[in-house]
Amino acid sequence: MNQNWHIETQAVQAGYRPGNGEPRTLPLYQSTTYKYDDAQSVADLFDLKSEGFFYTRLANPTVDAFEKKMAALEGGVAAVAVSAGQTASMLAILNIARAGDHIVAVASLYGGTVSLFTNTFSKLGIEFTFVQPDADSETVRKAIRPNTKAIFAETLANPALIVLDIERFAGIAHEAGIPLIVDNTFPTAYLCRPFDFGADIVTHSTSKYTDGHAMAIGGIVIEKGNFNWSNGKFPDFTEPDPAYHGLVYMENFKAAPFSVKLRVQFIRDMGVPMAPFNALLANLGLETLHIRMQRHCENAMAMAEFLENHPKVSWVNYPGLKSSSQYELAKKYMPKGCSGVICFGVKGGKAAGERVMNSLKLAAIVVHVADVRTCVLHPASMTHRQLSDAELKAAGVSPDMIRLSVGIENIDDIKADFDQALANA
Ligand SMILES: *Cc1c(COP(=O)(O)O)cnc(C)c1O
Repeated sequence: MNQNWHIETQAVQAGYRPGNGEPRTLPLYQSTTYKYDDAQSVADLFDLKSEGFFYTRLANPTVDAFEKKMAALEGGVAAVAVSAGQTASMLAILNIARAGDHIVAVASLYGGTVSLFTNTFSKLGIEFTFVQPDADSETVRKAIRPNTKAIFAETLANPALIVLDIERFAGIAHEAGIPLIVDNTFPTAYLCRPFDFGADIVTHSTSKYTDGHAMAIGGIVIEKGNFNWSNGKFPDFTEPDPAYHGLVYMENFKAAPFSVKLRVQFIRDMGVPMAPFNALLANLGLETLHIRMQRHCENAMAMAEFLENHPKVSWVNYPGLKSSSQYELAKKYMPKGCSGVICFGVKGGKAAGERVMNSLKLAAIVVHVADVRTCVLHPASMTHRQLSDAELKAAGVSPDMIRLSVGIENIDDIKADFDQALANA
């Protein structure tokens, strides 16, 4: 792979380079298994002594190409694609924390992530402390305990649209000898590369802008490659793994110990790989990532201004607006644009907002976000339904919030649709 290529070229070409006479486009390897000539070759694969494919639960050539492209786009050394964005958040944590450990999370998070952290992980004995994204550094430092294994946050929070000060949180994490894990689903690598600002692990729900067409659920965990797992806080990386005849991840897999460990321990044992066909679709989506993201940003900026000036609209939250409290952070971390999601409220509150949503013709009500088609959702009654009032407030969700995901249709048609719907507010 040519490391000097620009991100647009990587989006089209990285991950799969055909040899002479091989298919020009990434083939779908729809096979659970792989054929070998002798038993020793397979034994060596099982012992991780040689590299290759032997069972699609662990690795598959189509998924592998997608992983390599995502790693190239984010500027990481390796990536592991998994069954969903939820799986990516789960395994990024499980790979470094076990029962008795603790994680600091920035509170403005996707509802599913909050539920995973507060409900499921607490049953597994992993504790979380939530801090506000604008908490002063001393408060964040105080939340870190001797058994804290990471800080977890979203670059651009879904749906609060709060921009993470990545450098600040990375600095605090590194002082404590722990990694910063960043969910970069909303900006994608095209708008922001968290590794460039000090993040150590990046996760994505590839179900969103990566696929971009709302066709395939998936997730990915990407490793930057320079975190020091040998600092005494992460014995699972430096002590022999009895599950693999005593190999040591920091010695045997120096280049990408986090990714190898995540794959061979958790994907193997829990059975949560990305399906090859989903990797094929996500890879196809990535081929137009840069073009799509440009149009999403352009259309969202225009819609944010349109809504801000609309007499029926009470408030608009979009980090690209000068009126946004996130404007300065957005300029630093997302100079090319603030992605395609806007939140707003309608005068008259929740009931008026519902009437607007029900009157839309081009924009659809769907439980999704971040694809080519404009859509809306009401977080408090849909994606964030399971959260308590206090959790809703912490996640930045107000009862009247409408989340608008601006697609790549013609902007005049999108505006006209909202104009006629707002007339019914
Ligand atoms: C959707 C989403 C997830 C969960 O991803 P799934 O693919 O739906 O499991 C995680 N984080 C963010 C920011 C999301 O938007």
